[in-house]
Amino acid sequence: MPISKRTKKLAAVIACLLFVIVCIAACGKDDDPDLNDPLLTSSDAADTPEPADTPPEETARPPEPSDTSSSAPPSPSPSAPELVLVPYDGVVEHLFFHEVIAYPELAFNGNAMEKGYDDNMVTVSEYNKMLESMYANGYILVDMNDVWSEYSNDDWQRRMKKNTLMLPEGKKPLILSFDDISFYEYMRGDGFMEKLIIGEDGDIWATGYDPAGNLVVSQDYTVVTILDKFIKEHPDFSLGGVKGCIALTGYEGILGYRTQYDKNDDSNEFRLNRMKEIALVRPVIQRLKETGWYFATHSYGHINLHNASLNGVMNDAQRWLDEVGSLVGETKLFIYPFGSRLDGDDVNKTGPAFKYYQELGFRIFASVGIEPYVKIKSDIAAVICDRMHADGITLRKSRDSYMKFYDAKEVFDPMRKDKYGKSW
Ligand SMILES: [Zn+2]
Repeated sequence: MPISKRTKKLAAVIACLLFVIVCIAACGKDDDPDLNDPLLTSSDAADTPEPADTPPEETARPPEPSDTSSSAPPSPSPSAPELVLVPYDGVVEHLFFHEVIAYPELAFNGNAMEKGYDDNMVTVSEYNKMLESMYANGYILVDMNDVWSEYSNDDWQRRMKKNTLMLPEGKKPLILSFDDISFYEYMRGDGFMEKLIIGEDGDIWATGYDPAGNLVVSQDYTVVTILDKFIKEHPDFSLGGVKGCIALTGYEGILGYRTQYDKNDDSNEFRLNRMKEIALVRPVIQRLKETGWYFATHSYGHINLHNASLNGVMNDAQRWLDEVGSLVGETKLFIYPFGSRLDGDDVNKTGPAFKYYQELGFRIFASVGIEPYVKIKSDIAAVICDRMHADGITLRKSRDSYMKFYDAKEVFDPMRKDKYGKSW
């Protein structure tokens, strides 16, 4: 082909390309996220150009896998007024609970566990009042996975950044997490339910025994079912149906099912029973996920990470992934048992155990405190944060710090014993 012809053809191709680019740019403009769009989820918001947290080159990129959120957008009924969402960049509160005490007369009966229950748990009546109060104070539940996301910085290093959340006007975001929802053996007979089940209506229910020894099937006695019911009555307490994070160990199974492997028992009976428990818990997990619940590791053996060896941490993590992760699916959330930090200190250093967990895919590491605390690590893609503890200790001693959520004086259950004292 003569040069002049080739040049002409090249020019035509370039012109075509330019035309296509202009068209794409024009179409893209119409796709700009509208901050007032009720269907805009918080994960969409993460990709909205926001100067504070988002490095400039990020805005042009498509959403990354880690940015995706499973939470569905709020879907107002046809008659409901249009929900206006506004950007929110302030503090995201995080509160955690253990399983609730269904029958305080059994938990607070003077036995060896009484003090532990009084310290670490709240009763059903307290939990109900706390939810009412948090709702009345303008909180709305958000998914911990939506609060931060992973991106590549200028040096192509993977890091975490805080997202701008899109919330109904006037609402304050709140993460709820729930530790040790295993219905451990030691709790049996002490006033707790014993497992979550699927009811005839397809929803989550719980079974256990009342103080008279009668079998109870109810939605009124566990953190999960009470919150499910509360959000059914008050859908605006949840952003897109989000409920809370369930942090699981594995050493006595999960959710009331004894799904754990026992290296000391290779009998057929044990194996068959374990298979049965696994088959029973699967639909419960599925229903929880469908209804806004999500999962975190809480270590397999509820180990104290402060003084655990690296080998111990690694074995424990593998066991959790094998026996629990295989059932609940992938998670990037690690809720520290006892609130004690990996390598003894994850604030000032990034130790080998922390690196190990990070390489496994974990990104958000949560400890315990009595005020909001977040540190986005600068040397690795990870966030460390604290969660405030809603329990007997803080009901008795930290009324002021929790007043933004509820007044301890108003929610405190009179069934608690006076002998443990209180500061108000
Ligand atoms: Zn725990």
